[in-house]
Amino acid sequence: MSALARILSLVTLVLAIAGVAPQHSVAQNTADARAVVARAAEALGGAERIRALRTIRLRGYGHEAYQDGGSNITTERSAPEKLTILTAYERVIDLPNGRTRVKSRQSRAFIFAALAMMEGRPVNQALDGDVAYDTAPDGAARRVSAEAAARRRMELLANPVVAVREALDSRSRLANPRTEGTLALLDVTTAANDTFTIAFDGATSRPAWVRWVSPHENLGEIVLRTEFSGYEPVGGVQLPMSFNTVSDWRNTVMLRLHVDRYEVDVAADDLAAPAAVRAASAPVPAYRVDATDVAPGIWMLSGNGGANSVLLEFADHLALFEVPTSRGWTEALIAKARSVVPAKPLTEAIITHHHFDHTGGLRSAIAAGLTIVAQAGNAAWYQELSRRTANTYPDALSRNPQPLKLRTFDDHLRLSDSKLTIDLYRLVANNHIADGLMGYVPGERLLLQGDLFDVNWEVYFWGTTYEDNVGYRKLDVARDVPIHGRVLPIADVRTKLAEQTANAAALCQRVETAHLSMPGCPLAWGR
Ligand SMILES: [Zn+2]
Repeated sequence: MSALARILSLVTLVLAIAGVAPQHSVAQNTADARAVVARAAEALGGAERIRALRTIRLRGYGHEAYQDGGSNITTERSAPEKLTILTAYERVIDLPNGRTRVKSRQSRAFIFAALAMMEGRPVNQALDGDVAYDTAPDGAARRVSAEAAARRRMELLANPVVAVREALDSRSRLANPRTEGTLALLDVTTAANDTFTIAFDGATSRPAWVRWVSPHENLGEIVLRTEFSGYEPVGGVQLPMSFNTVSDWRNTVMLRLHVDRYEVDVAADDLAAPAAVRAASAPVPAYRVDATDVAPGIWMLSGNGGANSVLLEFADHLALFEVPTSRGWTEALIAKARSVVPAKPLTEAIITHHHFDHTGGLRSAIAAGLTIVAQAGNAAWYQELSRRTANTYPDALSRNPQPLKLRTFDDHLRLSDSKLTIDLYRLVANNHIADGLMGYVPGERLLLQGDLFDVNWEVYFWGTTYEDNVGYRKLDVARDVPIHGRVLPIADVRTKLAEQTANAAALCQRVETAHLSMPGCPLAWGR
């Protein structure tokens, strides 16, 4: 053997030991990937059977993470998750036409303010190609956003037979076949340009999971992975009896789905989007912010179906009280704040609590350079949200990354200058938020609060927390200025609170009479 040949064979040996194969051509990669898919198809019942499948109907039940895991009592990792219960779950898939519909009844496995969500609310969500639409119980169908359509397409693909059928499609692009432990992985881009990674079990060749990236208001984006377990034969194909969808954020289990029964190739309802739905354009969020005077230098900023922010004018700067709902809504709130008082810089955002409906705009607020003012218990979590990257679906913060500027307090912080004084107090006696804050403007006797009270709530399971907080801080409140709802005199708040609490008691009474059970019942308060 020549010296050169020895060196070459040594190099090959080193590469082999290091697990680095000589550069594979794209063509070879694709061929390898197609072979993996072919084996998976064989393991699921054969490519021919999969291609010939027309419909799948799955019925079962399960749980979803409420607010994607962002609604626990605190930000602590040990805080137990809150779940939405799914019953009467049915997914119908029309494979040749790329259509699907999910029906279920959703109820909260925790106390909630909407009666329908305690009793169970029917949901009917469909997808026809790139048209997503919801159907109300009265049959009225309405088109929903392109983002919802994209999300539903990925949720449809998070089924082993659907995913493998797509991978078999010659229009799909397969890339990057590789192994991870005992799994064989590859990336799939469908004809509709949806991208996912699929993993196959090394022993059975069946799909173990499907993974994809999804945009997210609070987290920038999240990686979701649906795991399949309990394969059983149904009508010539193998289908999993359980689905478990986990996000990369704190390993939150987003969906646990247990199958009662599968049927394949049964006559399914026509899932085509009604002509009027198809003709309508997908709604695009358009934010109109209304600024209403509350007191001198204080404005209620409202719109977007009811998550307010409050603009506070200090002597030399402005502050927003809450950055709720979403990045887009918060960007609109920031623009409005700047237009209401153009002469002063907007520099701060006070956040009542960490729940995802109250922090949807956190990343946009940080991107806008605002200092976040928060109760100290939320600090690490706000850091965590601010540091997440969003490369697939860039948002304002990932385009313009900046460190979180955070000002925290434990029990009380007074923000005060010649123009405005507001006291921030940590909440007490609350079973919804332990590390929350409320604001009090002593000059105008205004209570600024999120989630202590909303005039639109139907059932109140939070006992006497409103009065407890007002009493504990010895506040003399004249008007309530809420994140959810509208400004009201304190007398109206008290009347409505009594009504909502009585409604909760009556609901629990009905539950008891029917020998059923419900979170929050029997009511631990009053009586
Ligand atoms: Zn909340």
